[in-house]
Amino acid sequence: MGYQNIIEEIADTVKSLFGQGKVADYIPALAKVPPNKLGIAIETIGGLSFCTGDAEEQFSIQSISKVIALAMAYPKVGEQLWERVGIEPSGNPFNSLVQLEYERGIPRNPFINAGALVITDLLIEHFPQPKNDLLQLTRQLAQSDDIYYDYKVAASERELGYTNAALVNFMKSHYNIKAPVENVLDVYFHQCSLAMSCRELARAFLMFANHGIIPHSGERILTESQAKRLNALMLTCGFYDEAGEFAFRVGLPGKSGVGGGIVAVIPGELAIAVWSPELNEHGNSLVGIKVLELFTTLTGKSIF
Ligand code: GLU
Repeated sequence: MGYQNIIEEIADTVKSLFGQGKVADYIPALAKVPPNKLGIAIETIGGLSFCTGDAEEQFSIQSISKVIALAMAYPKVGEQLWERVGIEPSGNPFNSLVQLEYERGIPRNPFINAGALVITDLLIEHFPQPKNDLLQLTRQLAQSDDIYYDYKVAASERELGYTNAALVNFMKSHYNIKAPVENVLDVYFHQCSLAMSCRELARAFLMFANHGIIPHSGERILTESQAKRLNALMLTCGFYDEAGEFAFRVGLPGKSGVGGGIVAVIPGELAIAVWSPELNEHGNSLVGIKVLELFTTLTGKSIF
């Protein structure tokens, strides 16, 4: 069976799970998203595209942006980056404060909020216009000029961003944030508000499947080693405190966001993105995880 038939069959199967999760409600802008959306898109390195359902509709990618921000900071900062942020799974929720105290303001990894805030701080240090430069990189990776920040989401994040403010302030007290707290939060909230479709996301993540090179244009964004490392981090840290479960059930590097998106890669072959806004108790898309579990089961393709 080809990928198109497989994703259509999976989409039919998983609809029975609608209603079992809960749309993110920590900010009003996300709480309004219709719960029963479902999009799936696959883009291959060879240039084939497959999609079904709401795969062209843009949604808030939230934490998925943490991977793009890291892919922007890492080549610029180099290995010194890992002095500011760790590479171990956290086993804690995305916005947890607890480990920061034991680890003297050094976050466990770049894909929890604390780690992403340090990466944002590095973007401010190394790029003249970090918000604009991040948007341009995202458009370049996705080969789409239709990607924007959703200013309503960014404003909503700012209005209720008390925990993120606490994280930045705590890390600043340990000298692990250099820019003013307000600047770090502003760039971070915009980054979280990036709106993209499954198709755009799958295309943007092909670079990670293709050893750091954008397949459509041939441009190198990461070295081979950097691409390997980012994939390793997605595998071990991409799903908050559910990274082990995702590796166990799906077996692919990937990243989720509380907007209900998940993107995963099969290195050397393709990227697949799913959007279904209802989340499980760990903040990952409930239907999205099932879609990817069925995909690797039906195709026999995981990294293991
Ligand atoms: N904007 C969210 C926050 O910082 C990110 C949540 C996520 O997708 O993990 O609270």
